[in-house]
Amino acid sequence: MKLILSSALLMVLLPACFTTPAHSATINGQYYVPLANWAGANGLITFWLRRGEEVATTNRTTRLVFDKDSNTAEINGVNVALSFPLAVDKGAPLIAQFDLDNAVRPLLFPSRYIEPKKITTICLDPGHGGKDTGNRVGGLFGRNEKAYTLPLALELRDQLTKAGFKVILTRNSDTFVELPARPAIANKAGADLFVSLHFNATPNGLNEVAGPETYCITPVGAASSNAQGEGADHGATTANRVEKQSLLFAYQIQKSLVQNLGVNDRSVRRARFAVLRDAQMPAILIEGGYMSNPTEGKKIYDAAWRRQMAAAIVKGILAYQKVTAPAISPSTPVKNKVPAAMTPAPNQRSGNSSSFGGTPMRRSG
Ligand SMILES: [Zn+2]
Repeated sequence: MKLILSSALLMVLLPACFTTPAHSATINGQYYVPLANWAGANGLITFWLRRGEEVATTNRTTRLVFDKDSNTAEINGVNVALSFPLAVDKGAPLIAQFDLDNAVRPLLFPSRYIEPKKITTICLDPGHGGKDTGNRVGGLFGRNEKAYTLPLALELRDQLTKAGFKVILTRNSDTFVELPARPAIANKAGADLFVSLHFNATPNGLNEVAGPETYCITPVGAASSNAQGEGADHGATTANRVEKQSLLFAYQIQKSLVQNLGVNDRSVRRARFAVLRDAQMPAILIEGGYMSNPTEGKKIYDAAWRRQMAAAIVKGILAYQKVTAPAISPSTPVKNKVPAAMTPAPNQRSGNSSSFGGTPMRRSG
């Protein structure tokens, strides 16, 4: 029965599939390859969702969606910024080899790129502080970003400590800390992860935009995807040594935020932020939502919401650790088991039980 069904499905899909070979091309100096060729070689079927505009490539465990001329890809339900837009040439979708190498493949096959490593110490960086207020919403007597990043960090510290991690902070009061000093604190402590916490606001006062964004270092040779263009040069930084880890870490955090909080997905993004580029460990910057959006702003100012956000970040960290943890031999007793309180609630388990939408993550080769 199953076989008949899938054959029927294939009959429906085949007319939209790419059966004729397409050719690679150089577009704006980037080497592009036919998406269907790469996908086919990896056991994925490619077909148009909207002809010439939106294309999907899928198998039983993986679903990638790309839009023509767009830098945003949907990778197993989470938006991820590409460095170069998807192109369509003679009716065939082409993807930059750079993005296959630096975004798609590291997320689909992390064990090929990432050395397993146990997470012991996590450095939390509450954005801004002291004379640096961060984003300010509502005029002179309005809300300052720095007043919400610190309580989020303290809440997150408590939850991570309960989960068995050692936590250090770059500040634990309303004090000014220079940007380069922040990753330096993490480096000195030998932290295994660095998490900078921020809240966003639109520069032009528009208030429709909402949802979290999670940033990791930009790969060498690409421009950053943050709107302001901060640190948009193309060079290598210290953080590029572990850029694949940082990408996977950002992905797991963004996924957890979007799935557990039910918020708009503003995508995993790339930036050479000053707080990220000198970090020696996987490092991310979370923009936890937009203060400039009236509905989201109210949530950000609410301690109960921040507690939920902290819980989602903890789940993201545990998901990242699940994918990157060293293998435990059967004879070794399991230590540092996650406390029961930190495991997903039964009603959330179906969406989160696997680390990556069912894709076998521990495959070798
Ligand atoms: Zn900020």
